[in-house]
Amino acid sequence: MSNTRRSGEFIVPGERIGVIEEFIPNFGTYVQDGVIYSRNVGYVSFDSATRKVSVYTVAKGLSFPKIGSIVVGHVVNIQGLTAFMRIVKIGKKHLSGFLTGALHVSDIDTKYTKEVLSAVKVGDLVRAKVISDANRILHLTTKGENLGVILALCSKCGGTLLLKNRKSKKLYCGKCGNFETRKIASDYGAGNM
Ligand SMILES: [Zn+2]
Repeated sequence: MSNTRRSGEFIVPGERIGVIEEFIPNFGTYVQDGVIYSRNVGYVSFDSATRKVSVYTVAKGLSFPKIGSIVVGHVVNIQGLTAFMRIVKIGKKHLSGFLTGALHVSDIDTKYTKEVLSAVKVGDLVRAKVISDANRILHLTTKGENLGVILALCSKCGGTLLLKNRKSKKLYCGKCGNFETRKIASDYGAGNM
């Protein structure tokens, strides 16, 4: 374990992260001769539960969103208590580069949320607010009426989840009838980004 790195460490492409006997290579990594290297400029993240290792990027040449900015992104990965989002829009500006934000379970809702998966899932389109850029990582929140999931797909069949009624906030699949929960924004399904 001599060359083992720690979560949050800044890393560049080609840097050694570990070996496949220790970790499972995931997002932003590649393997050569049993050694895991970074594919990205970014921050390494180890998930102790799954032993997965990922590297989350910092976009080059992009204006980093300011604290308080509203962003829209797709959930690309969930590790432990954090959902990682690929941000596609900052304010009214669409992004083409790769910018990742982190949404911690404690920042999802004003109500207590025990598990990330009860509120957001991989593939969801989410509107969030930037609350911190400590260590050049964008920390997001979805607390607030207008923040949260704005479009989600059924985890059983991939159909679009529809809102039964705005009051109940229950989502159901138009294809297979599956019910699911999310922390939704007040305009879920309206097609607003
Ligand atoms: Zn379905």
